[in-house]
Order: sequence, then C-alpha cells, then structure tokens
Amino acid sequence: MDEYFYNLTELIYKEVDSYLPVYKNNPCRECKICCTTLASQGLTSLEFDYMREYLIKNSRTDEEAENFRDYIDKLKNENLNQPLHLICPFYNLQAKGCSIYPARPLSCRTFGYFIKDERQYLIPEECYLKKNIKIYTKQTFSEIMPFAQPFYSLVYDYEKFRNDDKSSSKK
Ligand code: SF4
Ligand code: SF4
Repeated sequence: MDEYFYNLTELIYKEVDSYLPVYKNNPCRECKICCTTLASQGLTSLEFDYMREYLIKNSRTDEEAENFRDYIDKLKNENLNQPLHLICPFYNLQAKGCSIYPARPLSCRTFGYFIKDERQYLIPEECYLKKNIKIYTKQTFSEIMPFAQPFYSLVYDYEKFRNDDKSSSKK
C-alpha cells in the first residue's frame, strides 16, 4: 500500500516540476539560502517516508533521513544554543547542490519560485528567481499553487491510512 502512495507522490512531484522553469549549470552558484534554516522548509510524514525509501534504494542510510528531520525541526544543540544543522545535511558543499534532488520535498521544490508574502525579504536581489517569484497569501495559496490541494489531500489520506493501520495492529 505504501507503494501506492509513493507512486502518487512521484506523479505530483512531476507535475510540480513541470510548472517550474529548468535551469542548467547551477544558477544559484555560491548562494544556498534556500538550503539553510532561514528558509524554514516543511516536511510531511508522507515525504519523509518517501525520502527514506529513496535513500534505501540508493544504498544510503536511514540516519541521513533522521538528520534531515532534525534540520527541518531546527533541533538544537543545547550546549551551543543553536540548531544542530544550520545548513541542510543533504546539501553537498563540494557539488553546491542537493544530494537527494529527485526525492526532495515539496517545500524545497517550490521555495524561491513561490513564496509567502511576508517572506519575500529572504530572497536576495541577486537571486535569478527574484523577478519572477509568485507571491501567495494564506487566501491565495491554492489558487497560486494548483498542485497544493491534490498534494495535501494525498498527505491527509496517507496519515489516515497510517493511523488506521496502527490502530488495527493494536487489536
Ligand atoms: S535564494 Fe535564489 S540563488 Fe539563493 S539558493 Fe535560493 S534560488 Fe538559489
Ligand atoms: S533537501 Fe535538498 S533542496 Fe531541500 S534543503 Fe536540503 S539540500 Fe536543499
């Protein structure tokens, strides 16, 4: 059954990508703002599980997924009083890019292309996306991002399926 949800996730990711322009030769260059805690990315349980599946299939470790969750949750190093990961653990500093690109979550796919009005300040003037960013508000979210509704309804179904599964295994 998980495979059913993963296949649908993949379809929605493909649809999302088809809305976005394709750039070659890493247009971000040295900038990595979108892959730091400043961006405050989100992660649904469906995406977390999908990402783990991708890591397993690519002989990578579960620990990487856990590190990513700590990054998303801004888990703190209590001694230093700062997040454990200021830069996403999947960001490859040498290659200057995402090391889990095909399985990155929706918020990573859309951040910079679409942004919530009060967060525009995060995108620097020199960003290649700056002129064409689509700004959304809470009210216009679904209208600006047509794939958001099917995506979050899939996330909802997945969480329901997982919860039902847990309750039936307790019986
Ligand atoms: S702010 Fe722009 S240039 Fe910087 S990482 Fe994000 S998309 Fe790339
Ligand atoms: S998963 Fe990839 S795109 Fe998302 S923040 Fe990490 S390195 Fe950046």
